[in-house]
Amino acid sequence: MRPEILFPLFTPVSTLQGVGPRLSVLYEKLAGSRVLDLCWHLPVGLIDRRYAPTLADALPDRVATLKVSVTRHSPGPNRRSPYRVFCHDATGEIQLVFFHARADYLMKLLPPGEIRIISGKLERFGETLQMAHPDHIVPVEEEAEVKTVEPVYPLSAGVTLKPLTKAIRGALALTPQLPEWLDPAHQAREQWQSWRDCLEQAHHPGSDDELTPFSLIRKRLAYDELLANQLAISLVRQQQTAAKGRVIKGNGHLREQMLDILPFTLTGSQDRAIKEVITDMESPDRMLRLVQGDVGSGKTAVALFPMLAAIETGAQAAIMAPTEILTRQHYNTLQPFAEKLGIAITILTGRDKGKARTAILDSIAQGKAQMVIGTHALFQDEIVFHNLALAVIDEQHRFGVHQRLSLAKKGAGVDMLVMTATPIPRTLMLTAYGDMAVSRLTEKPAGRQPVDTRTVPLDKIADVINGVARSLDQGTKVYWVCPLVEESDKSDLAAAEARFRELEERFGARVGLIHGRMKGPEKDAVMEQFAKGSIDLLIATTVIEVGVDVPQATIMIIEHAERFGLAQLHQLRGRIGRGSEKSTCILLYQGPLGETSKARLKIMRESDDGFVIAEEDLRLRGAGEILGTRQSGLPEFRVADLACHGDLLATARDDASLIMEKDPTLQSERGKALRVLLYLFERDTAVTYLKSG
Ligand code: ADP
Ligand code: MG
Repeated sequence: MRPEILFPLFTPVSTLQGVGPRLSVLYEKLAGSRVLDLCWHLPVGLIDRRYAPTLADALPDRVATLKVSVTRHSPGPNRRSPYRVFCHDATGEIQLVFFHARADYLMKLLPPGEIRIISGKLERFGETLQMAHPDHIVPVEEEAEVKTVEPVYPLSAGVTLKPLTKAIRGALALTPQLPEWLDPAHQAREQWQSWRDCLEQAHHPGSDDELTPFSLIRKRLAYDELLANQLAISLVRQQQTAAKGRVIKGNGHLREQMLDILPFTLTGSQDRAIKEVITDMESPDRMLRLVQGDVGSGKTAVALFPMLAAIETGAQAAIMAPTEILTRQHYNTLQPFAEKLGIAITILTGRDKGKARTAILDSIAQGKAQMVIGTHALFQDEIVFHNLALAVIDEQHRFGVHQRLSLAKKGAGVDMLVMTATPIPRTLMLTAYGDMAVSRLTEKPAGRQPVDTRTVPLDKIADVINGVARSLDQGTKVYWVCPLVEESDKSDLAAAEARFRELEERFGARVGLIHGRMKGPEKDAVMEQFAKGSIDLLIATTVIEVGVDVPQATIMIIEHAERFGLAQLHQLRGRIGRGSEKSTCILLYQGPLGETSKARLKIMRESDDGFVIAEEDLRLRGAGEILGTRQSGLPEFRVADLACHGDLLATARDDASLIMEKDPTLQSERGKALRVLLYLFERDTAVTYLKSG
C-alpha cells in the first residue's frame, strides 16, 4: 500500500486550482495525469526578468521589467493596423504595441494616468523604444512577482506557459517534505538538500547552469530515481535467488553426440559462453545469465548445449522467442537435431488452439515434451511444466519488465539464460537487470563478410531502384525496409504498401510484402517464398528486424534511415551478410541532416560492431531513444539521463547492495524512508516482494 504521505502527489491534476477538464486532458498528454507528473515536468529554459532599467538606460533586444505611467492610447486607423499605448517614466518614453487588440480590454489593463509594471522583450526602431505584447502587465504591488527568473517549460499544442506554470506551482505546493532516504554521510559529501527543496529549486532555476543534468539539484533528483531503480532490481533479484537453485549436472552423452552432428565448429566465443553457462547450472545457486551477441554470432548454438545438459538429467528445457517467425525458425533449426538425438521436441505458439493446444499442454505437463520451443504463450499461467530445469529467453529486450517478472515467478528454482542481440551499453544493462552475469560473443562464425554500408539521399531513389533492378537480374535477393512513420503501425503500413505497389508495377510478381498486421501463417508463407521461392524483392516494415535468416539475401535498402535507432539499423543490417557473398546496405536518408543525424549515419558506415554502435548512440542521443522504440522493456527515467549520470548509477548500485546487506527487509528508519522512495518512483511491485521475503 502506498504511504499516506504520498497521497497528494497521486491525485489527478484536475484537482488543482485553475485546471478544468480541457486543461486536464492537455496536461495529461503533455506530462501525465497526476500531480506528481506535473512535479516531474521540469523546466528546459528560463527567462530572466530581473533587468529593470529606466527608459533612458534601457537596452534593446533584452527582456526587461519596467515601471511606467500610461500616457495615452492610440488605436490604429483600421482593425489591421497596430494599437499603440504610449507610456513614460521620468527619463523617457516607450510604445507598447498590440495587434488584433480589443480597446476595452486594453483600457482596463492600462488606464491612462496609472502606473503599471510591464515585462517583455525590448526593441528599438530608430529613436523609438517599443515592446510588442508584453508578457506581463501588473499593478505596482505585484512587481516582486514579475521581477524574477521565470522557468520555461516544454509545451504542446493548446498549452501555454502561464497557466501551466501556475498549475505546476500548485502541484509543488501540495508536495510534502518526505523522510530522508539518503545515507547521511553520502548526502553531506554531495552537499545535497532535501528531495523537496531540490524539486522546488529545480522549478526555480537561477541560471542556465542549473538546467543541465550536471547541476547539484538535478543530480540529487536523478540519484533518487536511480537508487529507486537499483533497489527495486535488488529486491526482485533477492526474491529470485531466495528460491534455491538446483544442481543440473548431466552425463554429457547428448552434448557429445551433438558435437558430432553439428555442421560447423563452435567459435571460441561460443565455446566459452557454453562452458560459463554449464558451470552456472552445475552450481547449486540459481542461474541468471545473459548472453549478448551480435546478430549472426550464433546464439542458438549457445542455447542448445545447456538445454541438452538439462535434458540429460531427465529434466525439461524451454526456449522462448518474441515472435512467431522466430519461434518457428528455432523449431526448424532444432527439430532435425532433436530427431537425431532422439529427443521429444514441441512447439507452442499463440496459433495453437483447441484440441491441438490441449495436447501440447498435456505433453508439457507430463514431461513428455523434453525440449519446448514457444512464444510468450509460454508465460501464461496455465502452462505447467513437469520438471523445467532451464528456461532460455531469446531476444530478451523485446519482452517487457512485466513479462520478465512473471517468468521469474513461474520458474521457482529454474535456471534462466537470457539472450539478446541488441548490444546494450553497460549503463543501460545495469538499470534493466542490475549486476547480472554476462557472456559476450565477440567472434563471428568464420566466412562472414562485413556489410558494405552506404548512405544515399532520398532524392536519388530512382538510381537506387535501377541498381536493385540490375542486382535482381543477377539473381540477388533484396530486402527493402520501409520507414517508421510514427509510433503507429497503421501509417507504417500505408508507406510500405505504397512502396510495394510502385515496385510491383516495375518488377511484377517477384515483389513481396510483409508487415506486422499480417497473420502469422501469412507472414511465414511470405518469408518462406522469399527464402526459397519466387519472391526476390521483399518490402517489409520492421517485422523482419529480429532474427530472420535468409543467407541468400545480400542487399538491403532502408528508407528514411535517419528515423531509426542505431541499434535497430544494426539489427536490420544483420539480416544480410549471412552468407559467403558480399553484401551491401543502402541507407536512404532525407536531407538536410542535423549534426547528430550525420554523426549517427557515419557510425553506421564505419562500424560493424554492435557494442561500439550502441555506446555511441547512447552518447549522441541519450538513453531514452537508444533502442528506437518505446517497447524496449528497458526502464524509462524522468530525471536521470544515463548518458550523463553513469557515475551516479554506479554509486546507486553500490548503495543498493549495501542496503540489501544491512537491512534487506527495509525495517530501519532509513529503510522506511526507502520504501517511500520506491513508491514515489512507482516501484510498487518491488515493495510487494518485501512481504514475502
Ligand atoms: P544469432 O541468433 O546470434 O543471430 P544464429 O544462432 O541464428 O545467430 O546463427 C546464425 C547462423 O550462423 C546460423 O545459420 C548458424 O547455423 C550459423 N552458425 C552458428 N555458429 C556457427 C559457427 N560456429 N560456424 C559457422 N556457422 C555458424
Ligand atoms: Mg537468434
